[in-house]
Amino acid sequence: MKVQTLIAGGGLAGLACARELADGSRSYLLVEKQKEIGGLCRSVIDQGFSFDYTGHFLHFHKPALRQWASRYIGKVFKERRRHAVIYSQRGYSEYPYQENNAGLPSSVLRENVLGYLEAALHRRFGKLSTRSTPSGRSGQVRSDLNFERWCLEAFGPGISRHFMFPYNHKLWKFPLSQLTTHWMGRFVPSPKIREVVEGALTAKPSDSGYNATFLYPDQGGISLLPSGIAHGLSSVWRGAAIQRIDLKRRKAWLHSGFEVDFEFLVSSLPLPQLAALTEGLPAQLQSQARGLKATSIYNINFGLKGKQPIPYSWVYFPEDSFKFHRAGSVSACVPTVAPPGHFSLYVEFSYRGAKPNPAQLGRHAVQKLKQLGWIQSEKQIVSRVDLDLPGAYVIYDRHRDEAVQELLSLYEKKNVYSVGRYGRWEYGSMESALEQGLQAAQVISASSSVQ
Ligand SMILES: Cc1cc2nc3c(=O)[nH]c(=O)nc-3n(C[C@H](O)[C@H](O)[C@H](O)COP(=O)(O)OP(=O)(O)OC[C@H]3O[C@@H](n4cnc5c(N)ncnc54)[C@H](O)[C@@H]3O)c2cc1C
Repeated sequence: MKVQTLIAGGGLAGLACARELADGSRSYLLVEKQKEIGGLCRSVIDQGFSFDYTGHFLHFHKPALRQWASRYIGKVFKERRRHAVIYSQRGYSEYPYQENNAGLPSSVLRENVLGYLEAALHRRFGKLSTRSTPSGRSGQVRSDLNFERWCLEAFGPGISRHFMFPYNHKLWKFPLSQLTTHWMGRFVPSPKIREVVEGALTAKPSDSGYNATFLYPDQGGISLLPSGIAHGLSSVWRGAAIQRIDLKRRKAWLHSGFEVDFEFLVSSLPLPQLAALTEGLPAQLQSQARGLKATSIYNINFGLKGKQPIPYSWVYFPEDSFKFHRAGSVSACVPTVAPPGHFSLYVEFSYRGAKPNPAQLGRHAVQKLKQLGWIQSEKQIVSRVDLDLPGAYVIYDRHRDEAVQELLSLYEKKNVYSVGRYGRWEYGSMESALEQGLQAAQVISASSSVQ
């Protein structure tokens, strides 16, 4: 079979690309290895509950993308407000931790706020312990620091010790001194001095951060986004995995042995997987690709009988006594994801290497949810859906930046566009996956109309 563009992967990036090419009457074929499209953006319906591959809330920062998506999701997605908090020292404080210290035990509050102020003054004026003169520093935290150093410079020792270090250790399972800061962007809010001081005096829900509001449907879960985009697309093959790619002959082979000739390839496969499938890739690049690392997530979803116990969309858990780093309740902000008289909870454990034991994780989750008072008894549980997300969070170590750049530029020279969260090997959102898929289609349309 011959197509102009072969699209590998039917998550949001691949689907956005297919949609754009289809709307421009371009020839394409999208192949997705799973039986369902959507990738990470899928939902499971069980006993009347809808669960996503852990919490998935749609945020748009670019009006043009929101407008593009609204063509396919219409008014089904409604605007909701998040309420995110941190559980530490036996109490809840508003997200983000660094901006909301009111309510913490006074010794912790003091350590956090004084540490923050000293760090801010140190950045601005240099060493404080001696009578130093202003050093002409910009007051900005240096972006070349490793994540551990960056936290100390940006937030001081208190916030680092009580939240940034333990939470990020638990999430990444990787030495923080070997992480760069290039993944953070809007994901780690850096409040101003005034905001930290105000947040130490008064507790109030904060709108800080990248995701104060989000879009979500009443029913059906986040999978309505990919299914809306895919609606009416004819050249989408499900259960079709790419097994081999020959860039010289512009050919790909599916698992079934079926051959596809292409001019352009748009891949949202994880970059190390794309490299492993590509014949003739220089050995040095193969080894760069093999050195890319990620952390996986094991997500347990519970459907429960009873009254909604918490008002929180999600809660961060920095302390070691909780093995999960985050837990939440989609029904707290969208009650219709659960049948009447019921609610839903989810818990996220991160792991690297071997998959953890689901029974042990489940027991721990239930024990801690009881301790928190979110559930009273196991008898309330009417549904449990476990979802494994291997390689969910890309690790930004020093190796990552160089390897990704070299791989992407080689592929691009060969008219192969590696897009999406794992195609770019980045910490991306649903919006960025859509955007990259659309951009790849636009580049292909522009370059093929010039020829
Ligand atoms: C824990 C977690 C929580 C998140 N929460 C949010 C959130 O709240 N808001 C938000 O905006 N974003 C969130 N994201 C990010 C969002 O899920 C992703 O950015 C987006 O879904 C990625 O889409 P994609 O198309 O790039 O990749 P994917 O969804 O991974 O799609 C790639 C597709 O390629 C397919 N594939 C793999 N190998 C082959 C092969 N050999 N042949 C054919 N097909 C293949 C896969 O099956 C998959 O369907 C979250 C991510 C994680 C991990």
